[in-house]
Amino acid sequence: MHLSEPVTDATIMTENPSQYALHFLGTGSGGELSMGCSAAVLEQNSEPRLLIDCGPGTLNAFHKAYHSLPTALFLTHCHMDHIADLEILTVRARLAGVAPVRLYVPVNLIALLHQRLATYPGSMAEGGHNFWQSFQLIPVQESFVMDELDFRLWATRHHAPGFSFALHLPGLFFYSGDTRPIPEILHHNMSGNETIFHDCGTEPNPSHTGLADLEKEYQPHICNKLVLYHYANESAAERLEQGGFRVARPGNRFTLAG
Ligand SMILES: [Zn+2]
Repeated sequence: MHLSEPVTDATIMTENPSQYALHFLGTGSGGELSMGCSAAVLEQNSEPRLLIDCGPGTLNAFHKAYHSLPTALFLTHCHMDHIADLEILTVRARLAGVAPVRLYVPVNLIALLHQRLATYPGSMAEGGHNFWQSFQLIPVQESFVMDELDFRLWATRHHAPGFSFALHLPGLFFYSGDTRPIPEILHHNMSGNETIFHDCGTEPNPSHTGLADLEKEYQPHICNKLVLYHYANESAAERLEQGGFRVARPGNRFTLAG
């Protein structure tokens, strides 16, 4: 910028670094509908960059927020409360002329995703439609680059090894997906700045984290960075807050350090 040029708001905006946020479309555990299925959008300067998971109701919540369809998605795993709306997206994306939508899928999940959604015949009333036609499948493993963003994946503890994956953007955020506590990951691989969005209900179970797990499994500096999601309902959210933790609710946006 020339020194004699006036400093306008627009100038300041373009010289500021990108502002990233994680916007929760839903924070529920799938058992009840009041919180919506867990899904979140990575935003850059208020624009949606990447949708994480796409369960029942996620597409409508996305459209309500951005008046558009997602252009890039990442899937943590293939339980229906995380993938079911892809059946609607394959049709809507084709009709809207925005296909192919980039679909980042951990390699281990591809066969399961194909079996669960792509083998069902007649997904479009007009016929002649293959589920994959609307997507650009991008298999990912360990790490991947989306535009200038460098993501990492971590296999978590949900039902079986290699069944569910956390998404990590070092320095900005860690999104656990469905999981039991994962101290072997969180104690050794954070840069120190990430907000850690973590599965947590009021009670532990064999596939999910519960409130009593957190202080038992995690050191205080990790607990201080947690934002909890994937719980049953509003009263569960309040109990998690009473336990001293931050909790995400549908519609919440968390500005990310960067
Ligand atoms: Zn699950």
